[in-house]
Amino acid sequence: MADYREMWKSLNVDLEKHDQLCEILPELYSATYMEQENRPEGMNYFNFVVSEVHGLRIQELEDAKKEGKKVVGTFCVFVPDEIILATNSIGVGLCAGSQFWVPGGEKVLPKNLCPLIKAFTGALVDRTCPYFLACDMVVGETTCDGKKKAWEIIGERKPIHVMDLPQMKREKDFKMWANEIKLFIEKMEEFTGNKVTVENLKKSIDICNRKRQALKRLYDLRKHRPAPISGLDSLLISQIAFYDEPERFIAKVNELCDELEERIKTLKDTGKKRILITGTPMALPNWKLHYIIENLNAEVVAEESCTGTRYFENLVSDKGETLDDLVTNLANRYLNINCACFTPNEGRVEDVLRYVKEYDVDGVIDFGLSFCHTYSIESNKLQEELKKENVPVIRIETDYGNEDSGQIKTRIEAFLEIM
Ligand code: SF4
Ligand code: SF4
Repeated sequence: MADYREMWKSLNVDLEKHDQLCEILPELYSATYMEQENRPEGMNYFNFVVSEVHGLRIQELEDAKKEGKKVVGTFCVFVPDEIILATNSIGVGLCAGSQFWVPGGEKVLPKNLCPLIKAFTGALVDRTCPYFLACDMVVGETTCDGKKKAWEIIGERKPIHVMDLPQMKREKDFKMWANEIKLFIEKMEEFTGNKVTVENLKKSIDICNRKRQALKRLYDLRKHRPAPISGLDSLLISQIAFYDEPERFIAKVNELCDELEERIKTLKDTGKKRILITGTPMALPNWKLHYIIENLNAEVVAEESCTGTRYFENLVSDKGETLDDLVTNLANRYLNINCACFTPNEGRVEDVLRYVKEYDVDGVIDFGLSFCHTYSIESNKLQEELKKENVPVIRIETDYGNEDSGQIKTRIEAFLEIM
């Protein structure tokens, strides 16, 4: 990686602490990813993105800012990227998936909180995430209680706009969400000085839809037995989707899919068990569960999560002649995402049952980050419904530490044996 220290310094990164992170990440990546056999050539681009994750991409953001663009950080798949793009701004996902950031978060948050929230808060408090520091504004949302209260702490350090997400999906909730999107448009217009128009919103809908289609194409290829790409590699691509320049990302994912289509023609079944993971998101660089599973006789073929299907399923319609029409289309697509923050959330069970068939799944792992109450409470119902359909299922709850990796491996080994 080139020398980016001056850039990091100008962003007020704590260079000493950040150096420690720069030592951990390449080692972790190499041990997790580079040991895999027979990886597609197309993964070279994503290797490069990881090698430059705090370098080149941050440089691109800084260059764009010099040209007058704003960088906006988000933490949830409910925040519509289309609005950010339509105001000529750049969106970046700020969810964090490493134990490295957790102690920083625990300085200002209780220990008994989901590691994802502690990690992204710690990344800001300790000034070790250049993405966070490069953001001109961040957008929170009223999903789980932990996030809702974390915005108050984040707001002391960064300009923040919080979107009020309804907790139910009645007709009035769709209207309310459409109104929230309108308020977000007003906020972005005021912040950037750029107007959202029917024309530029249709253009950004098109970009986001093509990104979704590229990811859907990748996931559809994973339906093949055996999958032409590992779950680890697919997860990485889903994680990078939140950071990368959208047009370049779309092109690279489609190039990779061309290669995978060729691969499928010669692949022979290896007898590996096919696993669907459902549950809480796995933010970069949380590769723990996939790594454990794929070092056993199994492959992860899909993720029903926000770093998976929830990110790309369903397109936004571009039909309509007015801004109101397009906002309604956005509200309809986004509010149909099935997150456990909603009550009830029956759609998620339906999605999981459908994916079990579509991806020819042998067993489901219900993954939950520690202290994530909404997904944890939903687990019993989900497991019951899967058992009714004779689908093997196991619940794994964990955090970003590695202390329980041996225990998780033993449980998954036993799980694979009963399939
Ligand atoms: S799990 Fe729910 S709250 Fe978390 S990122 Fe996904 S949609 Fe948002
Ligand atoms: S994993 Fe659960 S507790 Fe953590 S941020 Fe997402 S919804 Fe909230």
